[in-house]
Amino acid sequence: MERNAKQKYDVLICGAGIAGSIAAKLLAKKGISVLLLEKDEYSGKTNACGGLFDRPYFNRYVKDGSVLEQSIKKNVFFLPWGKVVFDCDQVTVKRRIFDRYLAEQAKAAGAKLMNRQKVVDYQVKKAGQVLATVKDVNTKMLWQVEVKIIVFADGPNSLAFKNPVFQKQLKKQYWAYAYAYEIAQAPVPSDEVYIYFLPDLYPWGYGWIFPNKLESNIGVGSILPELDKEPLKQKLFYFIESFKPTAKLLQGRKIVDKKGGYIPMWMLNTLSDDSQLLLGDAAGMVSPLFGAGIDYAIEAAEASAPVIEKAIKTQNFSATSLKDYDQQVEKRFGLELKKQMLLARIIIFSKKFGKLWPVKILAVVAFGSKYTRWNKIKILAYPWLGKPTIKSENQTIDHK
Ligand SMILES: Cc1cc2nc3c(=O)[nH]c(=O)nc-3n(C[C@H](O)[C@H](O)[C@H](O)COP(=O)(O)OP(=O)(O)OC[C@H]3O[C@@H](n4cnc5c(N)ncnc54)[C@H](O)[C@@H]3O)c2cc1C
Repeated sequence: MERNAKQKYDVLICGAGIAGSIAAKLLAKKGISVLLLEKDEYSGKTNACGGLFDRPYFNRYVKDGSVLEQSIKKNVFFLPWGKVVFDCDQVTVKRRIFDRYLAEQAKAAGAKLMNRQKVVDYQVKKAGQVLATVKDVNTKMLWQVEVKIIVFADGPNSLAFKNPVFQKQLKKQYWAYAYAYEIAQAPVPSDEVYIYFLPDLYPWGYGWIFPNKLESNIGVGSILPELDKEPLKQKLFYFIESFKPTAKLLQGRKIVDKKGGYIPMWMLNTLSDDSQLLLGDAAGMVSPLFGAGIDYAIEAAEASAPVIEKAIKTQNFSATSLKDYDQQVEKRFGLELKKQMLLARIIIFSKKFGKLWPVKILAVVAFGSKYTRWNKIKILAYPWLGKPTIKSENQTIDHK
């Protein structure tokens, strides 16, 4: 069923999450006509997330202090032999507030925002002509829109995977699934996040406790092959009720909200094609070591806007013209992410030698600055040479 005559815009952005709304805002500010479609009732409503990311990104896009949950000054990582503490400058947000705020910002900049509109199909007729089919989630009616570029900012299970160029790069064996619960009471102190890399939880996975204003955001997650073995919800229950390091902090607290979601921890090699760009989780732009993707989603939106603007100016929407976007991403964070992907592969392989190995490798490589050479050897030999100790506090960590 067609709803109305075919609409036309320069750009269709599929998904008003972080990447989509920021890209929409940046493009609309340049006078480009942008249609921003969100399948949910409002942005962030069903998003599962810890909501932790670097403050400079928050400051760049948020002017309203009420969006902030907590300012975070320390990352505390719990490892089998003790904890490692890093200074940081981060924030926590609730995604249902943050994403909605960003979508409203895009609208205020001139983008046409429509909620409860799910993009269900698209066809690239030729570079510069894309026909997308949209389903009105309320009425179930289908309608069509014609655009010059379609931007996929629609999260892990992106519609872009209809295109074999993107589909063949998917590597779901490196994806994770995680549950994020909100539970009553913010932890004390409220400017620290606790991250548990403990093999008794998962050989390659983690648990977390992040503070919000009035609640705690807690969760557990691991790579998909691990999850086949034990249901994640059961693990989260264990994390709250009986896991020694966390039960004393969490036991008996009322659960306020429950959500789960995929974390696509494998970035695609090709991020664009004729008239198509992939941003954020749709492109697997997530740290495979820490499961963090918010900073990358913002970086990707920022990298995409000038490329789209140029394509519209020159009326060149070919894959070759849009390749600039891939190059910008590579420069901003792609190379770093690829190094992390290599390390993640080694870590996952190391599980074959015992369940302590993934965290040993992570500690030596990612937290190595905290340990002397001798203590790094102790980590690798742990537990036979005793507990490794750290040499210094107060170092900042880049844990995207
Ligand atoms: C449990 C969990 C905890 C996490 N914790 C953190 C954390 O603390 N810090 C961090 O940095 N990262 C975290 N991440 C990762 C982070 O949530 C993602 O990397 C980030 O949300 C990516 O943003 P995005 O805009 O690319 O995609 P999304 O946030 O997934 O947004 C996609 C949007 O598109 C909409 N959409 C989807 N399909 C369609 C469609 N067909 N039509 C229209 N709209 C559509 C969705 O409803 C959504 O609003 C976590 C992930 C999970 C699962």
